[in-house]
Amino acid sequence: MNRFDAFNEVRRVIVVAAHPDDLECCCGGVISMLVARGVQVFSVNCTLGDIGAQNGEVGRSTLAANRLAETEDAARLLGLAGTYNLGHHDGELVPDLELRAQIACLYRLTQADTLFTFDPHWPGQIHPDHRAAGQAALDAYMPSKMPLYRPEQLAEPGADLCKLQRVFLFSTERDIDVCVDVTSVYPAKLAACQAHLSQFPRGEESLQWLKEMDGRAGQRIGVTYAEIYRTMLVW
Ligand SMILES: [Zn+2]
Repeated sequence: MNRFDAFNEVRRVIVVAAHPDDLECCCGGVISMLVARGVQVFSVNCTLGDIGAQNGEVGRSTLAANRLAETEDAARLLGLAGTYNLGHHDGELVPDLELRAQIACLYRLTQADTLFTFDPHWPGQIHPDHRAAGQAALDAYMPSKMPLYRPEQLAEPGADLCKLQRVFLFSTERDIDVCVDVTSVYPAKLAACQAHLSQFPRGEESLQWLKEMDGRAGQRIGVTYAEIYRTMLVW
């Protein structure tokens, strides 16, 4: 089940997340390993993360600006090829036609062959934004391959029909079929998470929950830290 080979054909990745720290926490280990192999990775955050604070002292627009800067810091640490923010408000994301079109446009622009996103159908997924991001990412897949869908998107320089060939769902415990040992890159994953200072102000101490979660995943395959995914067949 320890299957980094599940990613053998991956060349260009798009990660569709809800909040600025989702990529780092949910799949930062595998992304780090893929970047080291020369894979280009693009990050999409659907929301600004503008309610992600434990107290109301910082205004929403200031928090959003801080989180955009943290996103860039984390992306630099991970070596991402590009980041996008779709500008929706945190806590209010819905998988509507506008969000579907925004994501479809990025499938067409980035020409990614592989999608990473939230499993919208895992019953334990309590965050509505996570469900919405995953649902919209899956919903955008099919129309983005069709030339008559939003043809104006195809006029953008570099854009072409969506080339996605495989999907990996994260933040799920439903039908896991890929478990990857990320122990060797775990310091890089933690460093990228800690770039989100607004979320983890006490550094590694704030990430104890993540270490415990990835440690439990590691127990599945007898390693210290692992990330788990569910593959979804697409064509
Ligand atoms: Zn999130």
